[in-house]
Amino acid sequence: MNVYDAARMTDMLAPLGYAPTGDAAEADLVVLNTCHIREKAAEKVFSDLGRLRLIKDERSKNGKRTVVAVAGCVAQAQGEKLIERAPVVDVVVGPQVYHRLPEMLARIERQAGRAIDTSFPEIPKFDYLPAPTTAGPSAFLSIQEGCDKFCAYCVVPYTRGAEYSRPVADIVSEARGLVDQGAREITLLGQNVNAYHGEDEGGRASSLGRLLERLAAIDGLERLRYTTSHPRDVDDSLVEAHRDIPALMPLVHLPVQSGSDRMLSAMNRGHTRAEYLATIDRLRSARDDMAFASDFIVGHPGETEEDFQDTLSLVDAVGFVHSYAFKFSPRPGTPAAALPDSVTAEEKSDRLSRLLKHLAAVQSEQNHRMIGRVVPVLLDRPGRQDGQLLGRSPWMQPVHLRAPDARMGDMITVRITAAGPLSLSGTPFTAPDIEALRHSA
Ligand code: SAH
Ligand code: SF4
Repeated sequence: MNVYDAARMTDMLAPLGYAPTGDAAEADLVVLNTCHIREKAAEKVFSDLGRLRLIKDERSKNGKRTVVAVAGCVAQAQGEKLIERAPVVDVVVGPQVYHRLPEMLARIERQAGRAIDTSFPEIPKFDYLPAPTTAGPSAFLSIQEGCDKFCAYCVVPYTRGAEYSRPVADIVSEARGLVDQGAREITLLGQNVNAYHGEDEGGRASSLGRLLERLAAIDGLERLRYTTSHPRDVDDSLVEAHRDIPALMPLVHLPVQSGSDRMLSAMNRGHTRAEYLATIDRLRSARDDMAFASDFIVGHPGETEEDFQDTLSLVDAVGFVHSYAFKFSPRPGTPAAALPDSVTAEEKSDRLSRLLKHLAAVQSEQNHRMIGRVVPVLLDRPGRQDGQLLGRSPWMQPVHLRAPDARMGDMITVRITAAGPLSLSGTPFTAPDIEALRHSA
């Protein structure tokens, strides 16, 4: 979502004459779009600000002004305190009000000073943002923001605010615009994307499943994805969407965090291990090639070795194709941060490395199962080696290949020839291949 937000800020600042640069020393304005989810991410902002202070001083010696803005969830959480700790900062703007960045910049231009806005507006920012101006083959589209779930460890409900869903018509029009500019795949974004309940044209609440149906009707849109979903919000319309919409990719990022009922309850996730596995089964019943990705937290307050073993066994039970795993990080203001941080730093590191090893083995096994299969691949970037292209399988696995006639943005059919721990390689599936298949049939 921060990638999406950063692109929207760029779009919004373009009419004011700002263009992106890769070199901070060249920038009249630097916007740090920040993340507060774990301490490590939040602390990174301050080391970046330290570097920016040197650049700002250097530029100022040459008579150039540099405005430093901090956007995103660290801005939201810290507000004024951010400037106290890092006086290099001129603008602090929260994730729900970055549409006000132009007027904040104009204000500090007129009267040197600072601007801070971390409010939650009554009229959502989306009503003010211009339509996106550029899109690659694969684009993001934010449809839902905020969260009302209040998991014990999580800052999102405090930094992104209450759940909000954009109206269906706005989303469909933004998606059309992206496709007109060359997007062939759209990933719908939300902190809790399947809690989506935006209003449709008839004034009724739509579900994510019904929204996906609407988007699938857009000509030229070949792939749809959505992330991140919550296990409690997988309703029948979403299962049906996976059954009925070929463009909806068969991969669901469905974070479980822990495989232990005791921990799920301490985390306030609102479901049990058995309910999670039942949700996986419902989704698998829609499509037999359905695959799953997840997030995990190890070392949440109270987690025992036995709880951790339950997480390892859940990984085996599902066979995730991809996952993220984190050490519990106490976040200010969350209920879990007030509990004794009972798992030692060594235990957390040990559990994380065991879990990562386990996840990597399962992922590698899933990748190896792909060898010999013929799958559509959307080419979305150049590979590291000369002449190599990189694309994504329907299950998001990176696929390396050489295809002299193919271009970025092409969807090509590929036979998978090799698998590594993180990616696949393949060769384009050609007309003679199809002929050979026909003969062998
Ligand atoms: N809405 C999504 C997750 C959003 S946050 C969901 O409910 O699954 C992204 C991920 O960051 C979470 O899935 C969790 O694994 C991790 N995370 C959030 N807060 C954390 C914390 N305090 N410590 C460690 N990991 C955390
Ligand atoms: Fe955070 Fe996700 Fe829980 Fe919401 S549902 S509080 S975003 S982990």
